[in-house]
Amino acid sequence: MLAEVMTVGDELLTGNTVDSNSAFIAKKLTERGYWVRRITTVGDDVEEIKKAINEVLGRRPEVLVISGGLGPTHDDVTMLAVAEALGRRLVLCNECLEKIKAFYERLYREGYIDDPALNEGRRKMAYLPEGAKPLENSEGAAPGAYIEHNGVKIFVLPGMPREMKAMLEREVLPRLGERKFVQLKFLAEITDESKLAPILKEALEHFNVRIHSSPKGFGKYIGVIIFAESEEGAEKAARFLEERGISLERWKL
Ligand code: ATP
Ligand code: MG
Repeated sequence: MLAEVMTVGDELLTGNTVDSNSAFIAKKLTERGYWVRRITTVGDDVEEIKKAINEVLGRRPEVLVISGGLGPTHDDVTMLAVAEALGRRLVLCNECLEKIKAFYERLYREGYIDDPALNEGRRKMAYLPEGAKPLENSEGAAPGAYIEHNGVKIFVLPGMPREMKAMLEREVLPRLGERKFVQLKFLAEITDESKLAPILKEALEHFNVRIHSSPKGFGKYIGVIIFAESEEGAEKAARFLEERGISLERWKL
């Protein structure tokens, strides 16, 4: 189950904003049993985004989650780029327009903005690639989009972390099935990662697991994370490491 993540925004490339969205999305996908094979970051540029999407589609993941660039300003071009990359038109989603209208009317009533009217920028957010299903944005104006394209499930989410997280939890994860996936975290009592390496390699040959080791600086312990489809599978791999002389204790984060 391969997945990819793409984040869009010039501010991510200048370093002015730290790309926390991709880490959040990758973590959630990993917990669902997906193997995130690549995270790509591109600027707010239609051609760059299209090129990156086509590269992702060429690798045929099951899932692609894109975040950023859905807002009302001129540099928010992600939906247009997605539509063009997939050879679809951008079409007005009436239901989305109604929701956007209601959203700004509420902000007006509550005194946050001084004009509730649908201007060009607000209207722009109601355009989605043809055939896309709108994803509800419980925290903001711009809807997201869900598109199935040649066997790839593509989700397009806003960039504001609060909006992205809410949409991921409520609209994306429920569409990805219920497969369980566990991560068991240990501290291995071994001072040198190179001594651990051949034992981990052997474990990977015997068990259907992924293992990440992370040194904690020079010292007594190395962090070991075992990813498996069941707790039992991860435990079996852990016992194997212990049989090879690695003393493990549960790593509580
Ligand atoms: P908006 O309607 O707010 O414009 P948007 O979908 O266009 O939504 P962006 O313009 O990409 O979102 O970003 C909105 C805010 O979210 C910005 O402050 C931006 O720095 C932040 N942001 C965007 N992408 C990320 C990211 N990958 N990680 C963390 N913050 C992000
Ligand atoms: Mg924006």
